[in-house]
Amino acid sequence: MSILDVKSYVAGQWIPPNSSARDIENPVTGQVMAQAGNDTIKTEDMLSYARTKGAPALQAISFHDRARLLKSLAIALNNCKEDLYNISFLTGATLSDHRYDIDGGIGTLFVFASKGRRELPNDVVYLDGPIEHLSKTGKFLGQHVCTSLQGVALQINAFNFPVWGMLEKLAPAFLAGMPVIVKPATATSYVTELAVKIMLETGFLPDGSLQLISGGLGDTISQLTCQDVVSFTGSADTASELKASPHLHYESIRFIAEQDSLNATILGPDITANHNEFSNLTSEVIRELTTKAGQKCTAIRRILVPDEQVDEVISALCSKLKNIIVGHPKNKSTRMGSLVSNVQKQAVIKGTKVIGKEAECIFGDIDAFDVIDADSKLGAFVPPMLYYCDCPDTAEAIHVIEVFGPVATIMGYRDLDHAIDLANRGGGSLVASIFTRSSDVARQIVLGSGAYHGRLYFSDYRSAEEATGHGSPLPHMLHGGPGRAGGGEELGGIRGVMRYMQRTAIQGGPDVISAIGNKWVPGAAENTYNEHPFKRYFDFLKIGETIRTQSRTVTIKDIEKFAHFTGDTFYAHMDDEAARRNPFFPCRVAHGYLLLSFAAGLFVEPNEGPVLANTGLDHLRFTQPIVAGDQIKVRLTVMQKTPRNTEYGEVRWHVTVTNQKNETVAEYELLTMNSFSSKS
Ligand code: NAP
Repeated sequence: MSILDVKSYVAGQWIPPNSSARDIENPVTGQVMAQAGNDTIKTEDMLSYARTKGAPALQAISFHDRARLLKSLAIALNNCKEDLYNISFLTGATLSDHRYDIDGGIGTLFVFASKGRRELPNDVVYLDGPIEHLSKTGKFLGQHVCTSLQGVALQINAFNFPVWGMLEKLAPAFLAGMPVIVKPATATSYVTELAVKIMLETGFLPDGSLQLISGGLGDTISQLTCQDVVSFTGSADTASELKASPHLHYESIRFIAEQDSLNATILGPDITANHNEFSNLTSEVIRELTTKAGQKCTAIRRILVPDEQVDEVISALCSKLKNIIVGHPKNKSTRMGSLVSNVQKQAVIKGTKVIGKEAECIFGDIDAFDVIDADSKLGAFVPPMLYYCDCPDTAEAIHVIEVFGPVATIMGYRDLDHAIDLANRGGGSLVASIFTRSSDVARQIVLGSGAYHGRLYFSDYRSAEEATGHGSPLPHMLHGGPGRAGGGEELGGIRGVMRYMQRTAIQGGPDVISAIGNKWVPGAAENTYNEHPFKRYFDFLKIGETIRTQSRTVTIKDIEKFAHFTGDTFYAHMDDEAARRNPFFPCRVAHGYLLLSFAAGLFVEPNEGPVLANTGLDHLRFTQPIVAGDQIKVRLTVMQKTPRNTEYGEVRWHVTVTNQKNETVAEYELLTMNSFSSKS
């Protein structure tokens, strides 16, 4: 059998393994099938290539362009999905396992591509939070901004998700404008290599933006600077070793760690065997035990059930486990493939021996189980194994030893506080799931256990219909956890992007703040043009472009008419005496929505033109009441422009409504969609 050479991609060149390479085993046969690693690779050249070529190229394009780049990569990977599935069978995983890894990874790219265009500006500076008013009259303001770190994202991944593990880190880093060096786990590096090749072959990636180290990392970490980020996924032991590097501490290099985790699932005290939630929990446990043969960082390791339900849960789990067929990953009858290697199998056997001292094995015999289409002695096969611990308070290992395979321990709890205490004994976990119908139980668990978990997944019979499952980290939501789980955070939508950017507090006058953020702030210069801004196409409108309207007197007749027309006859608009008893009003007042309507009537340009639609209104505040006889006028300013496609873009307008004394009575941001002058 020929041996696969897993190459590295270094400064624009594919480098094959050399004599220093490590062997990679086929976990189904136990034979060596590939090799990876080359100790002549100069990682300083890779870092320099990324910093001098990749970083400037990515940072020269806007968040929206980077998002489009992610989408192109996702499409290319999607088109080559079958190739990725095929090579992934070599890891011992089944087709449904590949879907978690490959489809999950591609889906993550698509979500970041979409979020990048919807939630980030078409710019390279991200405004973090609103303006801070630092002086009385608004001449001195504050704004937090985020800009790309100038270095490299070194992304070290675990063996179990060779595609998703790379893409969930790469997507936010690229969106942030950082070049990436991927270092996959050697055991499954050939899958990552193919995914990298597919992405590079699109030709869309700027030189230096993506490089790959297959095999050992060498002394890369000692060459990093404060502008670089290490994003690590793997075991707590490796994380501790890497984090201990004095260089990392000295340079204050960001280190994001996603480690192992003793995740729990809890059957709520309100649930019995007759509830759907009961069978949903048992199905979820089986899915988590068997997907990727339990080699998932989020897999359920501890099953917490009320004392009186222990026997029923064990019996339900065992009857489902009997149907799990272990075997060759390509056999369609196989429900669970092999572990990634015989080394991993030995680690699982060792771990179960430790757990076995505190808990009784009630399902799965490592020395006697059936395997279809493969030799259980040569391959890295193990059966799903369920343990029962009757002394979870005094036990240690079941709460701290992660057996990275199809192994979980069931234990009883007395009451909810006890369940919370046991869940927290994991010392910080990625996720806990709770099967309950009770919102009180849910809230108590959040209060008691939220601080120990990166994610809490509540399941009842209604949400179960559409829910994504205990073990699926979603690109929209945080992934990571405190303590034992590494203390890191990844994903979480745009939060994930910010881990690759530097937040800087900017203090200065309105013009400076407007120019830095490409977003007009009140007090900054206004421009006026001869033409009404509603007549100007998206591409011509300028930030700060303003019109100021004539004034209009609000009469008692207007208030009456608006009240009866809309049905809003709230007493403050209709009854003078009642209004005077209200601490906010001097007398009968105009409706806030009447003011908004009059404001639109004052600033709108009625004819067909570039403004296509009014799509919303943000941050509306009514700051002073308007009474009959008051005069209002409006200032309308182009605040921010965000292209949505080649035909139109969103314009955010700042609107201030003032009275005859120039006091602000209402302030808001109006959103419109405006067309481009020509379809580009
Ligand atoms: P691992 O042995 O800790 O390895 C993780 C990565 O670190 C691999 O790329 C590995 O490369 C590299 N590495 C190991 N020693 C290194 C060193 N001294 N210097 C630089 N790099 C080094 O973990 P694994 O066995 O691949 O993955 C299983 C573990 O990952 C489990 O504990 C699981 O819970 C955890 N995990 C966590 C998450 C999460 O999101 N929290 C996700 C998946 C997995 P080589 O392979 O070349 O040694």
